Amino acid sequence: MFDLTIENSRLTCRPGETVLDALLRENINIPYGCKAGVCQSCVVQSLDIKPPEKAQGDLKDTLKSSGHFLACQCHPEQPMTLKLPNQAVRFSDGIVVVSEPLNRNTHLLIIQINDADRYKAGQFVNLQRSDGLTRSYSIANIPHASGTLEFHIRRLQEGRFSAWVHDELKVGHSIPVSEPQGKCFYLPDRREQGILLIGTGTGLAPLAGILADALSHGHSGPIRLFHGSRDHDDLYRINEMRELAEQHPNFSYTPCVSSGDAPKGFIQGRANEAALSAHTDLTSWRVFLCGHPDMVRTTQKQAYLKGAKLADIYCDAFVVSADPTPQS
Ligand SMILES: Cc1cc2nc3c(=O)[nH]c(=O)nc-3n(C[C@H](O)[C@H](O)[C@H](O)COP(=O)(O)OP(=O)(O)OC[C@H]3O[C@@H](n4cnc5c(N)ncnc54)[C@H](O)[C@@H]3O)c2cc1C
Repeated sequence: MFDLTIENSRLTCRPGETVLDALLRENINIPYGCKAGVCQSCVVQSLDIKPPEKAQGDLKDTLKSSGHFLACQCHPEQPMTLKLPNQAVRFSDGIVVVSEPLNRNTHLLIIQINDADRYKAGQFVNLQRSDGLTRSYSIANIPHASGTLEFHIRRLQEGRFSAWVHDELKVGHSIPVSEPQGKCFYLPDRREQGILLIGTGTGLAPLAGILADALSHGHSGPIRLFHGSRDHDDLYRINEMRELAEQHPNFSYTPCVSSGDAPKGFIQGRANEAALSAHTDLTSWRVFLCGHPDMVRTTQKQAYLKGAKLADIYCDAFVVSADPTPQS
């Protein structure tokens, strides 16, 4: 049990609790999203001691050296003095320019942003509601080309942020957008390398961005996209992907449906299984895996066992917070 000091107040972090748990228990307003160390919404700063190494996760070296850490990953090992995030530094205001459905449960959101050059297709950002509710979403376009960020947001049953985006966020509204995060993006080296893109649901968002980026750089190796969903009606951008495949002979697109009968032109089964059975040897391939965390975890191992180097496997697991507690 260790004391946490924040400005003039003090609270206790109980055994087994993370710093985030303790802050939320005391109703201290702090942004958080996945609670799994991925979205980096809950970064706080230690003003006295060096935070435990695990709690600094994948933060940038500059943040690590200034004592920043992820509150959701920190089990304190001694008393700490904390500074809560100064969000003006990390968020900038975007303006919604498109808000419309892509299919029955997926929404297209396009946000105009001033410093679009900083963002890369396939990375993710945290979007924030005015009450501080924060969630991560992946970038589905090439931001610098249009000065916008495109997102595909799936409505979760009783999902607080996704329902708000679908029902209430309108064209003209402003919304805070974090700095870009994540390493899941295209690098224009080794243009002859094969690229395998596997995604479920809105996992298509980062993959569509990466695909557009690779094509715009004249990637010459094969690019194969497998996009899967349980039902046919939950897939989207099918015609656009087919058109791209017609225009670019090195690109192929395989939509997959895992339940019921697959219509003509679709594979019956899971996208990851279809992709891996079509590729027995992934030596020297670059692999991108986005969407359901179980799919990402399993496929990462299998791609490695089929010869892909770990450094060539890029993952974005769409971790959803298991915490149903309203944040504010
Ligand atoms: C790096 C990263 C990138 C992401 N990119 C995207 C993206 O591009 N598009 C996108 O749509 N989402 C993306 N997500 C997920 C997104 O951040 C939110 O978690 C998601 O939109 C749900 O938020 P919510 O506030 O609507 O739901 P919450 O209010 O947080 O509620 C979620 C609730 O649903 C329950 N639940 C958990 N899993 C499911 C499920 N599969 N179906 C139904 N209910 C479930 C949970 O128990 C929880 O109680 C990403 C996540 C991460 C970490």
